[in-house]
Amino acid sequence: GGVAAGAAAAAAGLLVDVQTPITTEPIEAVYEFTGELGRGKFAVVRRCVEKATGKVFAAKFLKKRRRGRDCRADGLHEMAVLEMARDNPRVVNLHAAYETDHDIILVLEFAAGGEIFDHCVCDELLPEAQITRLIRQTLEGVQHLHHSNLVHLDLKPQNILLTHQSPPGDIKIVDFGLSRRLGTAGELREILGTPEYVAPEILNYEPISTASDLWSVGVISYMLVTGESPFVGEDKQETYLNVSQVNVDYSREAFARVSELAVDFVRKLLVKAPEDRPSAAECISHPWLSQQPAQHFSSPEPAPARFPRERCSGSKWAAPPEDPE
Ligand code: ADP
Ligand code: MG
Repeated sequence: GGVAAGAAAAAAGLLVDVQTPITTEPIEAVYEFTGELGRGKFAVVRRCVEKATGKVFAAKFLKKRRRGRDCRADGLHEMAVLEMARDNPRVVNLHAAYETDHDIILVLEFAAGGEIFDHCVCDELLPEAQITRLIRQTLEGVQHLHHSNLVHLDLKPQNILLTHQSPPGDIKIVDFGLSRRLGTAGELREILGTPEYVAPEILNYEPISTASDLWSVGVISYMLVTGESPFVGEDKQETYLNVSQVNVDYSREAFARVSELAVDFVRKLLVKAPEDRPSAAECISHPWLSQQPAQHFSSPEPAPARFPRERCSGSKWAAPPEDPE
């Protein structure tokens, strides 16, 4: 703690102030643990039931010591970001917080539908109308975060969950372990997510901005549409090379089952220069996402034209897709 440590954390884009009380009473007295939902390098997520209410939650156990270093501040940061995003319906809600000798425990709203990763594998791809709905929701969440100067920096299909599995419910963004607050002192560099999903500027240790999240939305969109990861290589080195050269295959047959607008959308996000990527708000108004699926109109009002040209002309979406190669 202390003022100096707080200032250093703030300069690194870490949040230090938390509002939710951190309980040191044994968590087992309040929740019954009923299985494991996920596991990373420094965290385990367990399904649990609040004994008093019978409500299901997900408890994320964050190790306070990692590689022999005190990382309690990282746990508090993740907690503070969730608090800042409390009014963001696309971000998982923080219900309570506990602390033991070893862990900070975040008790989170349970997303029962699992990861959208499960819909990024070849044999169970979603219909296009579902894909666009989930991407639109993801972008709403990202837009909301960016308005608060928060960047997620680890957006990937494993960190976008669903409220229900089948039919797919609404998305919930989780895992703010790598997220940062922008606009504090200095430039942000050197925060590394999974190479497959992170933007070239992150791999090259160049300044990080909200545009880095939009790259990841492009990767996620590609995966939901094609069932394949656009940049993954035989090894880490090959993946790095694919990302920094923006080596993407748009010729796949898998793109045949969706509208041409899908390719146009992904192409505009997977561009090397962060300043050339559209913002979350601009993405939401891309014709691929703004076209309304006809079956959702139950009112007697006539459905609007499917590709309203006037909405595209004059905007950055009017330009034809460019191929730098
Ligand atoms: P890590 O930092 O280890 O990646 P995450 O916060 O991403 O931790 O959680 C790991 C996994 O646990 C997620 O990918 C997801 O499968 C599961 N998980 C996390 N939070 C929830 C939740 N609120 N509801 C259901 N499952 C969750
Ligand atoms: Mg994760």
